[in-house]
Amino acid sequence: MDIDGLDNAVNLMVSSKRMVAKVIVNVNQRSVRMISCTNLDVCFSNRVLLNGACPPYCPVIVAAKDYAIWKRKPKMNVEELERLDGDNN
Ligand SMILES: [Zn+2]
Repeated sequence: MDIDGLDNAVNLMVSSKRMVAKVIVNVNQRSVRMISCTNLDVCFSNRVLLNGACPPYCPVIVAAKDYAIWKRKPKMNVEELERLDGDNN
């Protein structure tokens, strides 16, 4: 997989009762890239997307950052799918 500056990234599944999303968190860059989200149509209709990406206040983004970057207990369910270390690729 080709991710910018892929040094310390983690592939997460973030879910609640209403939605499921897959994201990749780049821990070093403190950025979250949304791969898929079942709530995307809702965000699109409500015009909250920024250039097709989730805004920083998106609950999926917030939960992914809480889990992978800030090491806080996320408000959504977070499951670690894969850890992508630069060395192992
Ligand atoms: Zn979102």
